[in-house]
Order: sequence, then C-alpha cells, then structure tokens
Amino acid sequence: MGRRVTKRRKSKFLSQKKFLVLEGLFILLILFFFFGGIFLLYQIKELDKKYSLLEIKYKKTLSQYYNQKKEMNQIHDITSVEDIDKSIESIKSKYFQNIKALEDEILAGKSNKKIAYLTFDDGPYFNTYKVLDILDQYHVKATFFTISMNGEYCFDNKSENCFSLYKEYVKRGHTIANHTYTHAIRGGLYSSVDSFMDAVVRQEEHIKNQTGGYITNILRFPGGSAQSKDLKGPIIDKLRERGYGWVDWTAEDGDGKGIASWDEGWNKFTSSINDNIEVILFHDYNRITTEILPSAITYLQENGYQIYPLFYDSHMIQK
Ligand SMILES: [Zn+2]
Repeated sequence: MGRRVTKRRKSKFLSQKKFLVLEGLFILLILFFFFGGIFLLYQIKELDKKYSLLEIKYKKTLSQYYNQKKEMNQIHDITSVEDIDKSIESIKSKYFQNIKALEDEILAGKSNKKIAYLTFDDGPYFNTYKVLDILDQYHVKATFFTISMNGEYCFDNKSENCFSLYKEYVKRGHTIANHTYTHAIRGGLYSSVDSFMDAVVRQEEHIKNQTGGYITNILRFPGGSAQSKDLKGPIIDKLRERGYGWVDWTAEDGDGKGIASWDEGWNKFTSSINDNIEVILFHDYNRITTEILPSAITYLQENGYQIYPLFYDSHMIQK
C-alpha cells in the first residue's frame, strides 16, 4: 500500500516536474518569439532605413541622370545651332564672294551685266513691313541702314513695335547696316569725332541686342559723308579702326528731301540710274517710295541689273 502511495506520489511529482519543464519551455518559446520578434522588427526597421537611404540615393542618381541627359541634349542643340550658323555663314560668304567676282568683271569691262544695291535709310518704321513684303514678293534682298532714335515704338505709329523688325531683316536675308543711333545731324552728331563714334557704337550694340548677335561693319553717314565736313578724315580713321567700311549713294528717288508725287519720285529715280553698278538711296518710311518700289525693281531688272544686298568687301564700300 505504502509502495503504491509512493509510486503514486512519485508519478504525481514527475508530472509536476514535467509540467514545470513544459511551462519553462513554453515561456522560453514565448520569450524566444518575443525577443525574436523585437529583433526582427529591429532588423526590418534597419532594412527600412537602408531601403529609404537607397531610395533617396536612387532618386538622386536618377535626377542627376536626367540633368546630365538634359545638359547633353542642350550641348547637342547648341552644337547643331552652331553648325547651322557656320553653314549659313559659309553660304553667305560664298554668295558675297560671287557678287564681288561679278563686280570685278563689270569694273574690268568683261561683263555686260549690271548690279543695283537697293538701300533703305532711317528705319525701322512701321512702313518697313510693307517694304519687306514687296522685296519678298520680288525675291530681292536689300540693305537697311538703321537708326533707333524712334525708341521702341515707331515714329509714326505708336502702336507698332519697330524694334522687332531687326530680327525680321535677318530672317528675310537682308543686310543690316549702321546709320548711327541718333541720326541727329543738327543735334550734335557731327560736333566731334567722339560724339559721332558714340552714336555708331550705340547703334552697333543695339543691332546686336535686337538680333541676338548680328554684327554690322557697313555704315552710312546721316545726310551723307559730306555732312561730317572737316571731321570726315578723322571719323573715317576711327571707323576703319573699328572694322567699318562706309558708303554714300549713286542714285535716288529724292525721298530724303521730300517728293510731292509718284511721277516726281519716278522721274528722279529713272534719271539717276546710269552706271553699271548703282547704290540706290531710298527711305523705308516714305509712302511714295513704297509705291514706286515694285516698278523700280522691274525697271532695274528690265535694264539688266541684278539686285543684291551690300557686303563689306564690295567695291562700293569705302574703307
Ligand atoms: Zn538718314
């Protein structure tokens, strides 16, 4: 009986021990999972941090890539623009070389061809648009001796912005030349070499700014070179130093002094056309000149004249 009790006690004790062990294991397991969980959470957090850092790095790299790509494209664009500019320049210089060769032949009496250089002074004016359209219509290129005393808006039409015409001259293939910024013949332009050259440089910069870099090296004295009187020699020296050539004119319709009618302008124009190479003076503000222009172009062409824009190396440009 006693043995049986002991046995029973023993088994009871054993099951209690077993229980404790199991309980312990269970607690350990819970602790394991608990701390394991915390460790895992910590790990996840760390990975998360690393991931976020990587993400930031990735985004940074991506934006750097796009910026570089953009820069590359811009560089590519600039190179193509430069290429176009260069090829335009080389076509233009070849074009002028050919005109120069034609001038050589005409002056040597080896060619019966003739050249007319149409020149328009004192613009841009709002009327210049009409002149440009007529020249386009007849596929003729001319030279515009520009001034800027009118300010941003046209002298005779305040609603028109005339400065935008500078780009138009270039776009349509004409030559832009310098006629001084102020044109102030009676307002101090010719009072000294410096006052004259100041107005030259000012207009030169104005043309550059308005066109995005057009460099002119041809000038016409406002009122003609005779207006500079005793200063003519010293002014020409300064112009030469600055790389300029200059030109007066050999033919005109008289619009600078004012013409009363179409007939008056037409007669003056036709009677002034005599030489094999003519530099014709017009003013793009003049209404009668604008009306004469289509007939004048036809008249010149029918009389064997090729019409071209002026260029520095032309024999007509004095240096
Ligand atoms: Zn003028």
